[in-house]
Amino acid sequence: MAIAQSVLDIVLDECRRHHMETVDRIHLQVGALAAVVPEALTFCFQVVAQGTPAERAVLDIETVPVVVRCPLCGDLYEMEDRLDMCPRCGPVVSGLSLISGREMTVMSIEGRSKNEGA
Ligand SMILES: [Zn+2]
Repeated sequence: MAIAQSVLDIVLDECRRHHMETVDRIHLQVGALAAVVPEALTFCFQVVAQGTPAERAVLDIETVPVVVRCPLCGDLYEMEDRLDMCPRCGPVVSGLSLISGREMTVMSIEGRSKNEGA
C-alpha cells in the first residue's frame, strides 16, 4: 500500500504541474528487488486513487533487473536468481554493491488537461 500511495503522490503532483484533469496511463519502472507484484500494486493503486484524477489510470509496470558492481573487477552486471557470481571473477563472497534494483520510478504519465480533448 505504501508504494501505491507514493506512486499516487508523484502522479498527483505532476497533474497539478501540468494541469491534467484525467490520468490515462502511468508508466512505472520497478526494481526486481522491490518485490512488487504488479497485480497487487495495480489493485492498491486503484484503491488509493479513488476520487482523484488518476482513478481510472492504467498502470504500466516494467520490472528492471538488479544490477550490482563486482568489488574485484569493478564491472557492472545483472544479477539473476540472486547468484552472487561475477561473469569475470566467478563467485564473489562479499562487497557487491547494489547499483539498481530496489527503486520505483514513475517514468511517464499520460493524461488530458481541461483544454484538450472532449
Ligand atoms: Zn568481477
